[in-house]
Amino acid sequence: MENFTPTSYTLECVATGREFEDTGWVLSDPQCKTPSLVRARYAKRQIDVKPAEWGLYRFADWMPVRRMLKGSSAPVTYKSRGLAERLGLENLWITFNGYYPAIGATMTTCSFKETEAYSVCGRAAADEQRVLVVASAGNTARAFAKVCSDNGIRLLLSVPYDNIGALWFEEPLNPCVKLICCAAGGDYFDAIYLSDLALKGPGFYAEGGAKNIARRDGMACTVLSAVTAIGRIPDYYFQAVGSGTGAIAAWEANQRLVADGRFGQNTMKLMVSQNAPFVPMYDAWQADSRAMLPYDEDKARRDAEIIDAKVLSNRHPPYGLAGGLYDALKATGGDIFVATNAMARKARKLFRETEGVDIYSAAGVATASLINAVAAGRVERDATIMLNITGGGEEHFKEGKELWYLKPSLVFPLDPDADDVVSKVEALF
Ligand SMILES: *Cc1c(COP(=O)(O)O)cnc(C)c1O
Repeated sequence: MENFTPTSYTLECVATGREFEDTGWVLSDPQCKTPSLVRARYAKRQIDVKPAEWGLYRFADWMPVRRMLKGSSAPVTYKSRGLAERLGLENLWITFNGYYPAIGATMTTCSFKETEAYSVCGRAAADEQRVLVVASAGNTARAFAKVCSDNGIRLLLSVPYDNIGALWFEEPLNPCVKLICCAAGGDYFDAIYLSDLALKGPGFYAEGGAKNIARRDGMACTVLSAVTAIGRIPDYYFQAVGSGTGAIAAWEANQRLVADGRFGQNTMKLMVSQNAPFVPMYDAWQADSRAMLPYDEDKARRDAEIIDAKVLSNRHPPYGLAGGLYDALKATGGDIFVATNAMARKARKLFRETEGVDIYSAAGVATASLINAVAAGRVERDATIMLNITGGGEEHFKEGKELWYLKPSLVFPLDPDADDVVSKVEALF
């Protein structure tokens, strides 16, 4: 790992096409006047997939990383038999992100947020002095905590107090990982607000979310896993979305794979889904609107409380900006679906019966949408379909294990004082 050569790439602004250097943690083009993502343009047009021992970094040719970190795993793609047979599909491929050693899946934080975390933290300089800040409702926090703990990277997590039960680990974490919380009753948005206050301190820097090329190109590894296993770009891509970042990443990977030339020229249709009744992107898409429609704050909070797949309750997704989900759906001929809790629960049960492992509610939403799409004749029986199981195997992982929980160093009120947050958080490191 010591002799890893940093991946070579330049940045491109999606809105203007301007190409420029990554001077370090660039999240947008300073010269661009409209909201837009930036993308990485990798020096290697054809990906050279490394041996399995490299973990997720087997796809490092197309990850904006300077170094390889310890402990990563790649997603596992295999051709489904059980579920495929039930649905009458001939070419259903499952990309599994989670813990299921029987098929070689060893992500111990059990979701594809691990792909983001290894990529984002590998983008940071080894001698970075500042503390990385991540706000999350659960899966993202767990993934970043593991990566940073195992690799001695300083991390400040901001998580709602009501969600700290999601911060389970096999072993105690390295104290370079600290947790702060907004008080009981607060949600993901309060946690984001708190992290924004912490970021006012000079010793901290923001992970950046969907705008961070490392986050997207980490998630894109799901598609790289699928395409290198299948040998071609699929016809359809199914995923449950909260922010849509994974689907944007899938589209970007698709474009790189077309340019690679060895996997066909297919554009896979993005078939993404939300958990009803929390469906703001579905509503905007139905109205053929690039802008998100107005969503009453109280109703949004209530809807978010109802859905099983809490990870899908993002109220400000990267939907309308250049290179965002709206563009990705238009460019691929994709569509947005909805699944109720009842549909998702049934789908999870079916997945466990036919594929042998538990999956998260969000993955159940994606599976339910696939089931619905097959029933509605929206996909051909012989189409090559990638089902992105974004998280699973948590129950399997926890079996017989005694878990350790990360506890908050500080709990702040829901209307925290900015100076107080900055000084207390600085004192933690
Ligand atoms: C975060 C998450 C999603 C949603 O991913 P986005 O691409 O950010 O919308 C889906 N499933 C699981 C398990 C997740 O943790």
